[in-house]
Amino acid sequence: MLVGRKYVTHLSPEQEAQAEGFGDACRWVWNAALEQRREANRWWKRYGEAWIHPYPGFAVQARQLSGVRAEADWLRAAPSHVLQQTLRDLDRACREHGTNAVRWRSKHRWNPSFRFPDPAQITVEKVNRRWGRVKLPKLGWIRFRRTRDLGGAVRNVTVSYRSGKWYVTFCVDDGLPQAQPNGKPDVGVDRGVVVAAATSQGRLHDRAFTTAKEEERLVRLQRAKARQVKGSANWHRTKARIARIHARRARRRADFNAKLAEHLTRHHGTVVLEELRVADMARSAKGAVEQPGKRVRQKAGLNRAILAKGWGDLARRCEYKARVHGSRLVRVNPAYTSQECNRCGEVDAKSRESQAVFACVSCGHTEHADVHAAKNVLQRGRTAGS
Ligand SMILES: [Zn+2]
Repeated sequence: MLVGRKYVTHLSPEQEAQAEGFGDACRWVWNAALEQRREANRWWKRYGEAWIHPYPGFAVQARQLSGVRAEADWLRAAPSHVLQQTLRDLDRACREHGTNAVRWRSKHRWNPSFRFPDPAQITVEKVNRRWGRVKLPKLGWIRFRRTRDLGGAVRNVTVSYRSGKWYVTFCVDDGLPQAQPNGKPDVGVDRGVVVAAATSQGRLHDRAFTTAKEEERLVRLQRAKARQVKGSANWHRTKARIARIHARRARRRADFNAKLAEHLTRHHGTVVLEELRVADMARSAKGAVEQPGKRVRQKAGLNRAILAKGWGDLARRCEYKARVHGSRLVRVNPAYTSQECNRCGEVDAKSRESQAVFACVSCGHTEHADVHAAKNVLQRGRTAGS
């Protein structure tokens, strides 16, 4: 199975300038190619069959790119494989989401990131216990903090920037065989309201993704940013500070997900998770701001919103870990898992009037609301899996 290994890198000032240039080139290629596709769609709409030009798919755009690259020095400064990979990524995004739903890469919103797709052009070496280095086309040797072993053959390398740091991510094939089924009991997991995640066995997993101090600071910074002149030096500094808090929060969530995935897959034969849907994420995020006055509820809502954003990450980690520990991951539709009675099957929103307790209006069954929902998730996983 392919896994990602991400490390902090230390680029020299020249490499940093180069990497920024590569990021700019990729962004330009992405935007130009996206505009070309949208334009073609508009013409096609107008002229239909009479529109005779070939559609700018990956092959056409890759050919045109090498033509443009021959005439533009700043594009030639970036490795051609990297730019082609951008076209490939765009092609996939357009197929998956539709050309009009794919977003532009704005200088301010997009975190630079580019991929070296050819393992033949990549050399990785261990420098010592703490440091490793990788040789990439044009960039040369890059040092990275070797916090863990790569553990497999490198398939490709991504260099990315976020909140003041450059990272290098190796996609490696770990070559691990699938473990034998571990024969342990099954478990359902609910993305809780009261806690971050609850299991059908009654375990509640939670952690705060932000501290009270950080939240106060975040509010203060956001207010300051609103007052500052957009694009000014102060505005940029405030923006960077806000980004750092968000990044810290994301790291805590990643840590929580890693530990939870390890626990779930190590001790269970089948892990059943709710399928993530975008509507759910929006709802829980809205819940975070729609309940003013009640600080505790608001915080729980915020925690939930943060977890919702990482739910796909949790599923991905479970999928990988399940293979290592010999368990299996099943995803189910989460509709009404919080309102359906586990004992009599009655579905009623009134059964869930309290956030913390499920109380069936039909048979009177009561239970911790999140654990009850987790049991429903498990049950659905069993019917789906058999
Ligand atoms: Zn009931």
